[in-house]
Amino acid sequence: MAVCPNCKYEYVKGITICPDCRTNLVDPNLLKQPPALEEKDWKIIFTSDQEYEMQMLKDNLASAGIEAMIFSQKDRNIPTPGDLSIISLLVRNESVDDAINFINEVLGE
Ligand SMILES: [Zn+2]
Repeated sequence: MAVCPNCKYEYVKGITICPDCRTNLVDPNLLKQPPALEEKDWKIIFTSDQEYEMQMLKDNLASAGIEAMIFSQKDRNIPTPGDLSIISLLVRNESVDDAINFINEVLGE
């Protein structure tokens, strides 16, 4: 059994490329492994191409007791063309509202 990581369709053994999107099929067990970033627990609340701005916001959030994480496209093994400079700031789901309010205050000054 092989699975298309794009379409999530399962294909019988022997097929190696998704007929729909031409993506290489992968072993379904690979898809079950937790990703480095648990996206279901973290929400992107802010994006910027300014790394220092992100660091500043992250530090500010930390001082307010809100755990934040910076995710840069540059960290990826295979960069997405045209998306190289976008840096995302993520917080845990339960902190989203607090964090957005906090950032609005910081940036509104
Ligand atoms: Zn596919």
